[in-house]
Amino acid sequence: MGVGMVRRILLSYLVIISVTIALLLFIVHQRTAQTFSRYLSDQASIHSRMLPVMLASYFVEHKSWDGVQKNIDEASVLIGSSVSLLDAQGYVVAATQRSAIGRSFDADPALGQSIPIVGGEGQVLGQIYVAHNPARQRADQAFLDDITSALVATGALVALVAMGLGVFLARSISRPMTAMAQAAAQIARGEYAVRVSPASGPEISALAQAFNHMAESIGRLEEVRRELVANVSHDLRTPLTVIRGYLEGLRSGQIADRRSAEVAFEAMYAEVTRLLRLVEDLRFVARQDAGVPLTERRAVAVSELFEDVIRRVTPFALAKQVQVSHEVPAQLPMVEVDVDQMGQALFNVLENGVNYTPSGGAIFLRAGATDAHVWLAVEDTGVGISPEHLPHVFERFYRADRSRGRQNDSGIGLGLTIARGIVECHGGQISVTSDGIAGHGSTFTIVLPIPCLAHAG
Ligand code: ADP
Repeated sequence: MGVGMVRRILLSYLVIISVTIALLLFIVHQRTAQTFSRYLSDQASIHSRMLPVMLASYFVEHKSWDGVQKNIDEASVLIGSSVSLLDAQGYVVAATQRSAIGRSFDADPALGQSIPIVGGEGQVLGQIYVAHNPARQRADQAFLDDITSALVATGALVALVAMGLGVFLARSISRPMTAMAQAAAQIARGEYAVRVSPASGPEISALAQAFNHMAESIGRLEEVRRELVANVSHDLRTPLTVIRGYLEGLRSGQIADRRSAEVAFEAMYAEVTRLLRLVEDLRFVARQDAGVPLTERRAVAVSELFEDVIRRVTPFALAKQVQVSHEVPAQLPMVEVDVDQMGQALFNVLENGVNYTPSGGAIFLRAGATDAHVWLAVEDTGVGISPEHLPHVFERFYRADRSRGRQNDSGIGLGLTIARGIVECHGGQISVTSDGIAGHGSTFTIVLPIPCLAHAG
């Protein structure tokens, strides 16, 4: 592609340069020729106007043409052509070519120009004949030819330099393009780490940067895709294996008595619930990725949100013997949210709190407001999150401790991703603090803009 592109760019340069230079040469040549011939005819007309006047006054002064030969010789030198002076009867009285003197003269208009000499009363005193000078004409033509060839040489030189620059320019455009085309081909083959180096020139540099960003995003997407497939297949496989184990036990008659069968059904029910939850979470993330907008926002009291989510988590909390309580200041402004979604976000955070807090622990939901924001906090007294995991807990499929997560019957690392997506959709932010010491627990804080202020602004 590189060579073809250079060739195409060069070809268009060649056409532009040739047309421009040809036009320029044509115009300059025409103008020079015109100006030059005007200059020559001006010169000639000066002489042709001066000479008869001078000769007329000579005749008036001397009453004859006697001794005029000297003047004709001078005029001849001045004009650069042979000059003949004829008296009123048409006989040559003085001439550059002495041999013609005394003869009658037939003026040939093709070879020269005849100009009458007129006296003060309008009487014709004679005429002057100025022959064209072929040598002079040849010199004039040679002068014009010189100018033409100088113009052509300059044009050729300019064309050469322009083509040289064209080659340079075409290469500097085509080289990064070729590099990008090769990089794109590599990406198509799955080599996502490839990057192009930023080229010279702001536009191509911007293109290279955009390309690198694109390569990076594709690489990241591919990584997410691989992770997704790996995680999902792993998380599907585990409950399915458990269910199959129980089903085989039932089929082979190993699980025969009613008690064992009940245990088996309970366990299978739990696994199916897990599977459903997984599928639901995936659906939610997919919808977030597709940018499905929030449907129903309404003003709601934070205490209402808290009470609702505590009601939902109570069965798990009771089972784990974790105490959940809340406290909301009376004057706290309402928040404007999609209640179902914000409830889901809070539920995910609170459910984690229950999962990662040992029996006997407690979870505390608090809220408060600053000038422009309302904050909701979920504090637990659980295992905490160590500093190396802290920046990652909101990432997809991230689990600080995979084995523990599974034992605690947590999700697959999408709960906080979903919570963050929902909060950000509301123009808010979610963050976490923890010193990573077991028993000190973690605090998740959701900050939401106060709607009336947002509207007033
Ligand atoms: P999961 O579905 O595995 O709970 P989340 O996205 O909800 O995934 O959480 C990601 C990880 O963050 C969890 O696996 C866990 O390691 C850590 N985590 C979340 N909440 C808490 C908490 N309250 N206490 C300790 N660790 C937590």
